[in-house]
Amino acid sequence: MLCKIIPKKCIACGLCQIKAPEIFDYYDDGIVKLVDSEEKEFLVSDDLPTDLLEAYRACPTRAIELKK
Ligand code: SF4
Repeated sequence: MLCKIIPKKCIACGLCQIKAPEIFDYYDDGIVKLVDSEEKEFLVSDDLPTDLLEAYRACPTRAIELKK
């Protein structure tokens, strides 16, 4: 499965970083980024980690996508 972040949809609410601090971080302006990476996507197993799933569900603007 592919997890993708879409910074232009992000409203800097911070929820994803609270739910999954080992995956999501943010720039100085609060816009989402991946921890220790400038990539916008990464592969994750189909058996999704709970923290990622919670962050995905919490994002109010669908700035985090999960695709098969
Ligand atoms: S939860 Fe969504 S809108 Fe909020 S900071 Fe994360 S990506 Fe941005």
